[in-house]
Amino acid sequence: MKVLKFGGTSVGSAERMKALIPLISDSERKIVVLSAMSGTTNNLVEISDCLGSEDINGATKIIEEMRSKYHNVVKDLYSFEGTRKTGDEMVDSHFDHITSFTLKTFTKIQEKAILAQGELMSTALFHLLLREREINSVLLPALNFMRIDKYGEPDMFYIEENLKRELENHPDDQLFITQGFICRDGYGEINNLKRGGSDFTASLIGAAVPSSEIQIWTDINGFHNNDPRFVPDTKVIRELSFDEAAELAYFGAKILHPSTVNPAKEKNIPVRLKNTMEPEDPGTLITSTSELLDYKAVAAKDGISVLRIRSDRMLMAYGFLRKVFEIFEAYRTPIDMITTSEVAVSLTIDHPEFINQIAKDLRELGTVEIEENLSIICVVGDFRTERTGSAPEIFEALNTIPLKMISYGGSPHSLSLLIDTSNKINALRLLNKHLFNDNKI
Ligand code: ADP
Ligand code: ASP
Ligand code: MG
Repeated sequence: MKVLKFGGTSVGSAERMKALIPLISDSERKIVVLSAMSGTTNNLVEISDCLGSEDINGATKIIEEMRSKYHNVVKDLYSFEGTRKTGDEMVDSHFDHITSFTLKTFTKIQEKAILAQGELMSTALFHLLLREREINSVLLPALNFMRIDKYGEPDMFYIEENLKRELENHPDDQLFITQGFICRDGYGEINNLKRGGSDFTASLIGAAVPSSEIQIWTDINGFHNNDPRFVPDTKVIRELSFDEAAELAYFGAKILHPSTVNPAKEKNIPVRLKNTMEPEDPGTLITSTSELLDYKAVAAKDGISVLRIRSDRMLMAYGFLRKVFEIFEAYRTPIDMITTSEVAVSLTIDHPEFINQIAKDLRELGTVEIEENLSIICVVGDFRTERTGSAPEIFEALNTIPLKMISYGGSPHSLSLLIDTSNKINALRLLNKHLFNDNKI
């Protein structure tokens, strides 16, 4: 069994959806995970935002624009009138459902139900396309097996048991279609795996089955050595280890949802990144091992805040850091980077929700300074501590950019730096020139 996930652009038009058929038509048993059509989840977020601010007219306008866009997709997607009629009815039932939320009190629960409509529609439309082409497939409702607990973590036992039961109902079927991104939470309400979460769905399914391979199909030929949205001349990396890929995804490489690698790594399932526009390209293969290179890739994560705590009580004291960590734990806020000196500790977070409460509690321990609008730059390569000479090129490349924190030695395959977000693009470009281009500056 294989798992293949197709992202927003890969299902972004009638033409793109039709182009998926040859990619899933071999005889191997497979589960196909689909995202919403590109732009849809953003539109659904806009609708929710309008409803959250009681702008019913604004919400209705977006709903009707989307409805008409989807009717056009139906027109182009199917060849027969009968199928078009079914497709149109399906589209109307989803948008009527979304419209029904304009008449109700709007809460987080309704918001999640609205966001789920994108994946529910793309899978329903694609399943109908396969039916029209007389290709047997089973539409597996992700809401029947995909679940997170009250902390937002996947409930692996529930997922495995329920997915197994769903598959056992169809012992002779080869092709299954399901929704990425959406799930239920510990209370049974519709929820999701956060933006970009369809990648995570694919790896959770891959680990639950378990599958022989997890393929993430997108709009680029695999993992690049730098962010192609900001840096020209990036190059594809053919092989990455789970740990390298996990660090890059966690530190901002948009091609993978940050949690995607963990389930695959735990079950040692290869993850292959492929381009739907160039299916013959080998893409990137992520496995337990990969060739060590001095520098492999760079990624950046925005929305970082740093808290700097200074206290003379830290000098020669034990137990101080425990007290600091307990405060972050109480607010369920993960720490990304940390540096310490004799009397100060700096920590970064990317979930600023409770930053003021955290700072207030930390002030019991010492003086606290907060700085926001920061980015972490993560360089992945060979940073084993027994090596010499691995970091100078990084610092030379960035010698015009103020470095606010440096984390080295925490991981054998990465070095992270904290900078102002306003310097991010420049930093990524400088690192690209210095670390990856033959004609270095
Ligand atoms: P999908 O909709 O298929 O999930 P995404 O837009 O989420 O696709 O991810 C693919 C995009 O990620 C690429 O088009 C590219 O712009 C961006 N990206 C950012 N960093 C990288 C990287 N290091 N390698 C490849 N793509 C990256
Ligand atoms: N549709 C969701 C999003 O846009 C999930 C995904 O595409 O992975 O975030
Ligand atoms: Mg994505």
